[in-house]
Amino acid sequence: MDELDLDLLILGAGGAGLCAALHAAAASPSLRIGVVVKGLLGRAGCTRMVQGGYNAVLTEPDSLEAHLLDTLKGGGFINDQELVWTLVTEAPGRLLELESRYGCLFDRTSEGRIHQKPFAGQTHDRTVHKGDLTGIEIMNRLSEQVAARPHVTAFEECRAMELALDADGRCAGALVLDQRSGRFLVLRARATLLAMGGGPTMYRIFACSADKAADGIALAWRAGLALRDMEMIQFHPTGLVIPGSLMTGALLEEGLRGAGGHLRNRLDERFMARYDPQRMERSTRDLVARASFLEIQAGRGTPNGGVWIDVSHLGADVVERSFRGMVRRCRDFGRDLACGPVEVGPTAHFMMGGVVIDPTCRTAIEGLFAAGEDAGGIHGANRLGGNGVADSTVFGGIAGDVMAEYVVGAPVRRPDTGALERAARDAQKPLGRSGGELYALQGRLRDVMWEHAGLIRDAGGLAAADLAVVEIERKLDGVGVPGGPALNLAWQDWLNMRSQLTAARLIIASALERTESRGAHWRDDFPAPGRGALYSVRASRRGDDLIVWREPVALTRARPQPAAPTPEAVEIGD
Ligand SMILES: Cc1cc2nc3c(=O)[nH]c(=O)nc-3n(C[C@H](O)[C@H](O)[C@H](O)COP(=O)(O)OP(=O)(O)OC[C@H]3O[C@@H](n4cnc5c(N)ncnc54)[C@H](O)[C@@H]3O)c2cc1C
Repeated sequence: MDELDLDLLILGAGGAGLCAALHAAAASPSLRIGVVVKGLLGRAGCTRMVQGGYNAVLTEPDSLEAHLLDTLKGGGFINDQELVWTLVTEAPGRLLELESRYGCLFDRTSEGRIHQKPFAGQTHDRTVHKGDLTGIEIMNRLSEQVAARPHVTAFEECRAMELALDADGRCAGALVLDQRSGRFLVLRARATLLAMGGGPTMYRIFACSADKAADGIALAWRAGLALRDMEMIQFHPTGLVIPGSLMTGALLEEGLRGAGGHLRNRLDERFMARYDPQRMERSTRDLVARASFLEIQAGRGTPNGGVWIDVSHLGADVVERSFRGMVRRCRDFGRDLACGPVEVGPTAHFMMGGVVIDPTCRTAIEGLFAAGEDAGGIHGANRLGGNGVADSTVFGGIAGDVMAEYVVGAPVRRPDTGALERAARDAQKPLGRSGGELYALQGRLRDVMWEHAGLIRDAGGLAAADLAVVEIERKLDGVGVPGGPALNLAWQDWLNMRSQLTAARLIIASALERTESRGAHWRDDFPAPGRGALYSVRASRRGDDLIVWREPVALTRARPQPAAPTPEAVEIGD
């Protein structure tokens, strides 16, 4: 195996990874920084797919306290409140940095101020955007900036395979696979960042970038880290329904509902009146997605098993102007969003759960940090639209600052190379073997997760899913893929499935542990929020066993008032 020494190793190149690289390079330009990315720099991951925008408090009457409360309320109050406070206080500065230091340009009002639009679940117009294709603006500018930093090296089309630990369990870098050549590489580093963006691609219908396979979650689990709230999978309500197309599940952004879009069932009813008559379509994603799912299950869905979203009453001109990307996306499939309803349905979108971190992105492993969708605790039981890209850029930047400081005087650690060689051998197991069930198993996993660990869950279904996942895992172990290690997409899919299965087991075990309904997690057998103290579900490994437990939520800044369900029914601590 080839080896290379770095100061900082960043695994993943979305908003979190690139902001980390830029901040670390700004703190100390001579640091040797490596950024490992499964695809091409600037092109892979979900930050590029961000449509609606970026939440940041810029002007009154909005306030940091309001952003905190909206986020906690959306998150069912199981968020880590210190992480949320860090998010809301840092987001305005990071947003301005994206413009003034990195060159992003967001939409303006006629007075030249940054335009902020309404997003579901928020008490103020807070979401900054570039039309409806905000992520392209952010990722283009960030990747240009990274390319201009001489000491930042991008390892493109390289896949992080395993964290490299030393004899004392401290992080010493990572084992990486160059997907083009099929060669393994040990990247040794004094500080390592997990920023691989989670990714619920183990569901039948998903919206996120297909290169993501929850690899960061699987690496963290194998290294022995605790993960939190893995049961919290966000299903976005408005994924396109295009029969027979891989585009099924691709998003129509939340701004459509924010701008006044209507959701209707087959009977032409605005069905949200049944589920959240006050907020209607502007209700939070979890509620709208579940409502759509229930309508479809009750036989009130559209011919292709979705519901209708209709923005045509806003006027074709307005829709064309405000949602250019969405209109084009629909036209590509013969749908006219500007002039009529379009079929949509729930789609797996985002993992609220992830690695336990503190507000400086430290994990429980010395020398290992995590940021972005790989980290848990910020969004609690449900992420608000616009808080995802704020999270990845805020915490990515913090991680870069903290890691740059951390490596000063930090020793270069010696990874346990025996463990890495075993990991590499294990990963190559399917190569050249016969047995071609890989894609049947992939389909089976996606169906099982959708049906039993999806929008509506119960103990029986979750237990059945658990058994099925163990069985799929056993079968995958015996599956072969043709060809050698270089440029072998089937092998990459095999490796993806290994990570997806690990994450699936964590999701199911955590969902069984949470015997209540909260946010994105709906248990048909426990349809109300629990009456006891709020808790976070933790999962980790003991030997090869998966263990789960509950940890009380620290209400350090605000607490819900049990009797009053309105947004005002919370108080801020100091
Ligand atoms: C369609 C869509 C629309 C969205 N719209 C919004 C929005 O409007 N507002 C909002 O706030 N949020 C939105 N989000 C969520 C937002 O995209 C995420 O919260 C955020 O971008 C995550 O950033 P990240 O850096 O953690 O991960 P990502 O941007 O997903 O980056 C992950 C990186 O890790 C790499 N990677 C993965 N596995 C490996 C591996 N094994 N080895 C090496 N590299 C690896 C990937 O290639 C990628 O470079 C949207 C998400 C989707 C899918």
